Amino acid sequence: MATRGPGNGRTPPLARAGVVVLGTGQDAGVPQVGCDCPTCERAWRDDTIRRLPPALGVWSSDDEGLVYGLLVDASPQITVQLAMLQAASGRKAARRHPVDRILLTHAHIGHYLGLALLGREGASTHGIPVLCSKTMDRFVRANRPFSHLVERSELVLQVIAPGKPLDLLPGVRGSVHLVPHRGEDSDTLALSLEGAGRSVLYMPDVDRLGPEELAMISHHDVCLVDGTFFSSAELQGRTQAEVPHPPMEISLRALPRRQGVYFTHINHSNPVLLQESVERAALTSSGHALAVDGQWFALGSKEEGIAHWPWEATPPPSR
Ligand SMILES: [Zn+2]
Ligand SMILES: [Zn+2]
Ligand SMILES: [Zn+2]
Repeated sequence: MATRGPGNGRTPPLARAGVVVLGTGQDAGVPQVGCDCPTCERAWRDDTIRRLPPALGVWSSDDEGLVYGLLVDASPQITVQLAMLQAASGRKAARRHPVDRILLTHAHIGHYLGLALLGREGASTHGIPVLCSKTMDRFVRANRPFSHLVERSELVLQVIAPGKPLDLLPGVRGSVHLVPHRGEDSDTLALSLEGAGRSVLYMPDVDRLGPEELAMISHHDVCLVDGTFFSSAELQGRTQAEVPHPPMEISLRALPRRQGVYFTHINHSNPVLLQESVERAALTSSGHALAVDGQWFALGSKEEGIAHWPWEATPPPSR
């Protein structure tokens, strides 16, 4: 299956500092494993529908031109997503050191399973810092195979506290914020990134867009926001309480009309994936957009334009 991203054209780096969207599907991606729904069937043939599991890449270069990379969430597709980050950033692959740091938002499978591929059977990394909450730290240390990687110092866990400023990469600061999301194994973080010219909010999983979440959205230039379901009609036998996410039809009414809001973490059931759907038309007329795999944003300067579409200038599906 061809994947948009690495090797598709432009010579990196795309900007001195930036954010690249590495996956815009829900935890299991689109097509969903073992699913024969019409959307998944089409997704095998149509890469405007296909979505990798959720992840974000961040990069920046220092004054000597050395490029550093941060991976936000380690999905089961970490191999292709690290290659996409490399292609966007121009950071050279180095043995045992495919990325400079990792930040984990929470302990649901699409956000951490990929850590396993950094162990002995895979990249065999050495001392990669993994930033996460205290509960996520406890989860990784308590569960094989992930605890093996910590015991062998392939990964070095670093607990980060919500609300505290973080120096993530040269010229890129950030902070994490607790958001409501079903927390069987860990709490859930949203990530705020601040470059010299632009701020980005990453909130792929959240139960609802309440006043605090809407305030966070209003304080960032670019917001990647939970768009898992368009409406609760997609849940088929499950209830909103079992898998709470803010239905996109309600978010579209709650969000102010402005540039820079992109929905991500799209479930295979969400009709917004289909270009001809009335739900896609509703999204387009709301002025908001659907994030796509490989899309990137410059962090360094507002003059660089708010959004850049994937390599080879794929026309943005929702605009
Ligand atoms: Zn998720
Ligand atoms: Zn499906
Ligand atoms: Zn989740």
